[in-house]
Amino acid sequence: MQHGIYLDNAATTKMREEVLQEMLPFFCGNYANPAAIYSPAGAVKKAVGTARERTAAMIGAKPGEIYFTAGGSESDNWAIRAVAKGAADKGRHIITSKIEHHAVLHTCEYLERQGCEVTYLDVDSDGLISPEAVEKAIRPDTILISLMAANNEIGTLEPVARIGEIARKRGVLFHTDAVQAYGHVPLNVETMHIDLLSASGHKLNGPKGVGLLYCRENLRLHPLIFGGAQERGRRAGTLNVPGIVGFGKAAQLAKETMRERSEKETALRDYLIDRVLAEIPHTTLNGHRRERLSNNANFCFRFIEGESLLILLDQQGIWGSGGSACTSGATEPSHVLSAIGMSREDARGSLRLTLSEETTKEELSYVAEKLKEIVGRLRGMALWPSPPAR
Ligand SMILES: *Cc1c(COP(=O)(O)O)cnc(C)c1O
Repeated sequence: MQHGIYLDNAATTKMREEVLQEMLPFFCGNYANPAAIYSPAGAVKKAVGTARERTAAMIGAKPGEIYFTAGGSESDNWAIRAVAKGAADKGRHIITSKIEHHAVLHTCEYLERQGCEVTYLDVDSDGLISPEAVEKAIRPDTILISLMAANNEIGTLEPVARIGEIARKRGVLFHTDAVQAYGHVPLNVETMHIDLLSASGHKLNGPKGVGLLYCRENLRLHPLIFGGAQERGRRAGTLNVPGIVGFGKAAQLAKETMRERSEKETALRDYLIDRVLAEIPHTTLNGHRRERLSNNANFCFRFIEGESLLILLDQQGIWGSGGSACTSGATEPSHVLSAIGMSREDARGSLRLTLSEETTKEELSYVAEKLKEIVGRLRGMALWPSPPAR
């Protein structure tokens, strides 16, 4: 990639060199199918086992509770569809929230068309899900609560432990989309009473196209992909060995560095947030001020249009992402920003900057300067109502 300041780590991360080194032998060196009987396959099988141990250790799970998938989206689809199928005789009601990733929301919408009923919980203006609201939404026919651990847009950390406690007490299965949280904040499936959990390799400096679904051992997990005996007959298909090995290495490294990395990122994140809020008028922070991912800053610059902001930032070598997407010609605010109560106009002026462990204070100082300049310039020529004098 050309030289620039990459601040889109919630979208994907750079793979670490150590991860690449761990993967390389399994492409052209030992490319045996781990399911085979001959001796080279033994080493491949062993490497997959190590990856299973490493990815399980991150969340206090047993290696046998990890199912490798092709990423976070597949894991979310699988978890929700498997429970809907497996518990159909018990009920057809699912509880989720309005700020979930589309991999969860669109799966729920699909299941509604199949006759399920879904409650989409509201969140407060910080994006927090209320555990009381979760408890209130539980009905006798509720089979699943699927709520994310950390939001990918605004970075808000959800009260997973309290939700897990409620789910356990009421005898409802609890799935969490932990794609943003896994490797970034401490998670424990035992103490947090999590029955199913989704994670993805490329959000923690691992490879793309590999993820996992954790499923508690006493649960019968209905398969999503049929065709072979891989993953204990639950997920057919020859294993993505290099990907799985890389994911395992990334998980091991992320676990070792979590505390230090999170402290460093939090300090840098707060430096950026404080500077931007102090120096650029009519600006607010989206998401919870403290209960948020250590690398996430999401701003709303009122009276500007985010698309132009992104383009002008790109011209300065700064890469972030916006708060709206162009769907069929019209700019639609993201469902997350709408759910926290933002107007369409304000959502359009939103910018997400997500840091990595390589981000430096010098870079963020440059970003703050450029933002001030560009936001000022865009407001000067805005067709929007002019900002009131401060
Ligand atoms: C990125 C992301 C996903 C999708 O993961 P992929 O591996 O890209 O399929 C799901 N949920 C959340 C919260 C994410 O951030």
